[in-house]
Amino acid sequence: MSDGRDVTPTPGRAIESGTESKSETKPDANPDAETGGGGDAGADAGAHKTKELDSEVLSQLSADRDDISTEDKIETKTKTKIKAGNESDHNADNNHSNAIDQTTDLKSASSLNSGTSVPISQPSKISSSEDKQQTQRQTNSGSGPTEKCGVVGVALTDRRAARPLYYSLYALQHRGQESAGIVTHDGFQQHSHVEMGLVGDAFDESDLNTLAGGTGIGHVRYPTSGGVNACCAQPFSVSFKSGSLGLSHNGNLVNADEIRDELESLGHAFTSDGDTEVIAHELARNLLEADLVRAVKQTMERIHGSYALTIMHDETVLAVRDPEGNRPLCIGEVEDGYVVASESAAIDTLDGELVRDVRPGELVVLDADGSGFESYQLTDRQNTAHCFFEHVYFARPDSVINETLVYEARRNLGRKLWAEQGVETDVVMPVPDSGRAFASGYADAANETTADGDIRETTSTNDDAIEFAEGLMKNRYVGRTFIMPTQDERERAVRLKLNPIKSTVEGRSVTIIDDSIVRGTTSRQLVQLLRDAGASEVHVRIGAPQIIAPCYMGIDMASRDELIAADKSTEEIRAEIDADSLGYLSVDAVADVLGEHRSDLCLGCVTGSYPYDIDNEDSDRDVTRPVIAGPDTGADATNQKNESKQEAASDGEPARADD
Ligand code: SF4
Repeated sequence: MSDGRDVTPTPGRAIESGTESKSETKPDANPDAETGGGGDAGADAGAHKTKELDSEVLSQLSADRDDISTEDKIETKTKTKIKAGNESDHNADNNHSNAIDQTTDLKSASSLNSGTSVPISQPSKISSSEDKQQTQRQTNSGSGPTEKCGVVGVALTDRRAARPLYYSLYALQHRGQESAGIVTHDGFQQHSHVEMGLVGDAFDESDLNTLAGGTGIGHVRYPTSGGVNACCAQPFSVSFKSGSLGLSHNGNLVNADEIRDELESLGHAFTSDGDTEVIAHELARNLLEADLVRAVKQTMERIHGSYALTIMHDETVLAVRDPEGNRPLCIGEVEDGYVVASESAAIDTLDGELVRDVRPGELVVLDADGSGFESYQLTDRQNTAHCFFEHVYFARPDSVINETLVYEARRNLGRKLWAEQGVETDVVMPVPDSGRAFASGYADAANETTADGDIRETTSTNDDAIEFAEGLMKNRYVGRTFIMPTQDERERAVRLKLNPIKSTVEGRSVTIIDDSIVRGTTSRQLVQLLRDAGASEVHVRIGAPQIIAPCYMGIDMASRDELIAADKSTEEIRAEIDADSLGYLSVDAVADVLGEHRSDLCLGCVTGSYPYDIDNEDSDRDVTRPVIAGPDTGADATNQKNESKQEAASDGEPARADD
């Protein structure tokens, strides 16, 4: 690591740090970054070169980390990139700044010890009113599931981090449109700009110019827990006795309230009702008494739920994925540094190369000078709980998750949909844009075999061929939300967004393919639209199983009583949307196509059984949330409180922040 200051992680179990020698080592290159390398980083990183740690480096590492028990250290590998011109302006600045920083206590910052409050920096500019955001959310109530956040972090050798972060956030815009923010560190102090709105509206040239430093993190947000307002916009910035923290979170904790109660009783003051601030306080508190890696580990042992985090501790960027790996997070390499991001599309945008996914339970620490990264496997679980909906709906089709291109996964889901639910019609068409890849795979498979599974004897011109057509045109100038104050107007919303091509539809039997049905409103409108355009039959096929339960892990799915499949059979839903037939993909087919066992996927919203310990919900595994001491009498008080919460909620839907 870079400078030996207190931000240098003193690890639990160092399992990997990468080395890629791209040129001769400079005499004054960062000695820690030069820790050689070994092991099989290349197995993940493909072309990444590694070399064995030499004994001198090992003994130095051992001396640095002698407070970690030997059984915690399972492996140390190094992947260090030493670039020509390593003495860049950025590094020079950092070295200078670090020298200053060593003598500079952040005196303005309050301690996070018991009985003291935590200063949280507020978003620097707020341009949209809370009322407006609330209105937008209400008018969006007829749409499908909504991803909650995208996170990114970069550490660069030769340039400022602000612009690459900005481009990355653009690439992740589909994961959140309510707010956007960037926090950077120049080796001396933190810089932050967080604002409501889309990335393009949240930043201008002067904003980017104020974000100095070669390391930083970014965030785009759609609210998970916490309100739809500026105080929950991210990254969170915290100043405290041991330095500064920035935090970006994708996911949702299920025990945030318990930890918040305990921390509040210890004197921590919260500025928002979101769970991300709880993580920030918890980590800051642990950092007062532990090194960075150990503090992250302690934090992970207390928080329960879904989280993919990018964190800045002073100028060091970290990436953490929850032990079940619920939300995606990946590592990429760019010419002069490293990137961590929710999706590989952000790495592509920076002309980078995907290295690999961050593993469930893994902490990745980027060297502040962009020369490499280190990895610590802080928790191990027997099973993962990847959100299958990332592949089905949320992630960009051009992203790679779990070594699978999302577009290909969707096409294969479409092929499987034909095998399980195929119906012979004249034409197959996607619901744009979400159904496109599914429909493409479905139509391909439909022209190979009949719905009965026989080989189809067909050419593109004979009558047996099933046509794949773009029969619904999307108005791209209608945004995600628009003002439609009455239910009747909202019912007509689909006519603003989609228009059928009559010549494709008129007098023909049609299958429309989509990725999900949430409330059923849009599906019903679409079927009616196609009937009005002259379709003789309208069949609906869905590339995922029925959504029968809400999501507690960070997806704005809808509450249980809004979900059409929560209490209706497929035949009842078919009748309600007025389709000639309706078919969903099975859960087993999803697992099969994704190449995962069911027990390694989160299937909560389609089975009603979750991979976390959630009040009043079933779990699909042996899992118990961590015991939190509680504000007054310790664990017993918390357990009693949990029991009373469950009793209070037993009459209806359990409390959920975004319901
Ligand atoms: S409940 Fe559904 S949407 Fe939520 S994390 Fe699990 S699979 Fe994903």
